[in-house]
Amino acid sequence: MTEITCKLLVIGAGPGGYVCAIRAGQLGLDTVIVESTKLGGSCLNVGCIPSKAMIHVAEEFEKAAHAAAGKTPFGLTASAPKLDLKQAVAWKDGIVQRLNNGVAALLRKSKVKIVHGRARFRDGKTVIVETETGPRTIKAETIVIATGSAPVELPFLPFGGNVISSTGALALTEVPKRLAVVGGGYIGLELGTAFAKLGSKVTVVEAQASILPLYDAELTAPVAKHLAALGIEVLLGAKARGMTPKGDALLIETAGGDEKRIEADKVLVTVGRAPVTNGLGLEELVLDMDGRFIRIGDRCETSMRGIHAIGDVTGEPMLAHRAMAQGEMVAEIAAGLPRAWDKRCIPAVCFTDPEIVSVGLSPEEARKAGLEIKTGKFPFAANGRAMTRHGEQGFVRIVAQAQTQLVLGIQAVGQGVSELSSTFGLAIEMGATLEDIAGTIHAHPTLGEAVQEAALMALGHAIHI
Ligand code: FAD
Ligand code: NAD
Repeated sequence: MTEITCKLLVIGAGPGGYVCAIRAGQLGLDTVIVESTKLGGSCLNVGCIPSKAMIHVAEEFEKAAHAAAGKTPFGLTASAPKLDLKQAVAWKDGIVQRLNNGVAALLRKSKVKIVHGRARFRDGKTVIVETETGPRTIKAETIVIATGSAPVELPFLPFGGNVISSTGALALTEVPKRLAVVGGGYIGLELGTAFAKLGSKVTVVEAQASILPLYDAELTAPVAKHLAALGIEVLLGAKARGMTPKGDALLIETAGGDEKRIEADKVLVTVGRAPVTNGLGLEELVLDMDGRFIRIGDRCETSMRGIHAIGDVTGEPMLAHRAMAQGEMVAEIAAGLPRAWDKRCIPAVCFTDPEIVSVGLSPEEARKAGLEIKTGKFPFAANGRAMTRHGEQGFVRIVAQAQTQLVLGIQAVGQGVSELSSTFGLAIEMGATLEDIAGTIHAHPTLGEAVQEAALMALGHAIHI
């Protein structure tokens, strides 16, 4: 059995793992990364990137369909669009392939050794990897667990046949006529919206009393309204129970306790993601757990010296940019730099229509934390750029500490607001006050002007409303 000895071993090449390995390589650490499937992890192969590609396809199709139906207010007409979903999926796969190659090139550039195979701990310093050419032993001073997450499978709705996960949904080559979605969270609503735009009759079954329970009702209201406009039926407080024996319908229990049948060609189950630790040999270690997730401290250290964990395997929020930030930090810690998790915020973006962004504290969270706050909320209906994009729904909301004007949180819902998330994050990370944002010249006409106006509004002197 060949043996490799290195300074840093990263298990899993998702956004957490590959960023950690690249940064470690840049810092001159002798680094090995092990990946059992494809470089880029869930994010690049079956998550963020492919889902946003298919959401884009759906948006373009909807625009063309609106023109064909004479629904645009600016007189655009077209003939009815046709979509070759196979070609769309091939286009999406091409983007994924380019990014896979990009990650491999970046790892090579940083002199990181890539080992393909499944890793299993033998002890706290040693891992055995099953590769195509046989088992390999890797010994490392520091090991980073970055094995990510996988879709939760409901025992009464196992994946297979017409019951699909997000991975299956992103590979469909025909648009299902009727799609039932179990779980009205991030994935269910992002993909449910895309399939509705492509022509599916979509029904969403959500166990909680509201969609996207992570965001407050003010932010989700415009999304709920648009779901209805798209003809998506949302059943709240309802629980999936299983498939009919024929597999042609989903059985649910409604909020009122009645049994209901939802005819469906495909049932997409998106009820959260679980950490991937199976077969990793965690029983050889003594790691404190946080439920099923690995417990970490503010340096992403586990309860065992020399073992760190990053990304989805450590729990919520399961977001690619959080995993990347943790990966970068852990590489610097392994190189002996003084680092600890000191971020003020992790932006959350939901790519529904309209999109939602939340950075920092919402008004309710700030009040719950005992803070005295002032807020400003500026509607896109009063923003010139939103009007010219024919996307006036939504608003920007800013939350600041009443006495100091320190910005605690910024949220928005509206068309294309995902691109404002970096401005929001920057403002909070740099400790901006309302005056800082209000006093910054925001280019005209842009959606960003609504951020400046929200700050002015919190200060009591908005101009354009
Ligand atoms: P992963 O990306 O899951 O990578 C873990 C890697 O470890 C995998 O490649 C796996 O094969 C490998 N691995 C596991 N076990 C072993 C082992 N024993 N040996 C070797 N390798 C192993 N997040 C966002 O921020 N924005 C989005 O828009 C977004 N959209 C999403 C859409 C969908 C449909 C899904 C499913 C997820 C989405 N996410 C999004 C979440 C995002 O994909 C994850 O938060 C992110 O991928 C987590 O990164 P990670 O590095 O922790 O793990
Ligand atoms: P989620 O946690 O966002 O939503 C799951 C939903 O399913 C919840 O609303 C929950 O109440 C509901 N649910 C649970 N059990 C149910 C049942 N038996 N019947 C009906 N409803 C049920 O999970 P997800 O959509 O699977 O996404 C997983 C993770 O991936 C997210 O937590 C997020 O971190 C990440 N993600 C992020 C993005 C993004 O950043 N834009 C996009 C997709 C996924």
